[in-house]
Amino acid sequence: MDIKSKIREVQDFPKEGINFKDITTLLKDKAAFQYVVDQMSKQLEDLEIDIIVGPEARGFIMGTPVAYKIGAGFVPVRKPNKLPAETLSYEYELEYGTDSIEIHKDAIQKGQRVAIVDDLLATGGTVLATTKLIEELGGEVVSINFLMVLSFLNGKDLLKNYKVESLIEY
Ligand code: IMP
Repeated sequence: MDIKSKIREVQDFPKEGINFKDITTLLKDKAAFQYVVDQMSKQLEDLEIDIIVGPEARGFIMGTPVAYKIGAGFVPVRKPNKLPAETLSYEYELEYGTDSIEIHKDAIQKGQRVAIVDDLLATGGTVLATTKLIEELGGEVVSINFLMVLSFLNGKDLLKNYKVESLIEY
């Protein structure tokens, strides 16, 4: 399947100069949605994954069906003050300023095998921060799986210590 043809590109969103990859056009296409979930699940099915971690918000959309399909649990990583129970936070650098993300402290047990699933790898900052949270809780990041990678932003360099897979690259 030609996945790229299902992803809408929106010029100058959310700001000028950015060519935003909009997956809503893929998600509403039943054959395309099923295809990408099946393909991402195939990449993970033999890795004995206990937990899929999905970063807010599109990591929830891609991560939960993959977790269901491979028989893993799902853990959300969220922006600050969204998770109700006790959390662990990690602050990371942006181009201008900082951002932080959170996970529930009891979300992952020591030694559990974890895969991170998200829609898109850009600079890699979000997912690298996500690996820090998982590792601080004692989880092992076995694989990081994206629907797509913007290779010109070199996010794979930042994630060079991990196995990174995707279905398509730009
Ligand atoms: P990074 O931390 O720079 O790798 O940014 C990745 C995050 O930004 C992902 O969670 C994406 O959902 C979001 N993102 C960045 N660019 C795009 C885009 O063009 N389309 C959809 N999401 C994007």
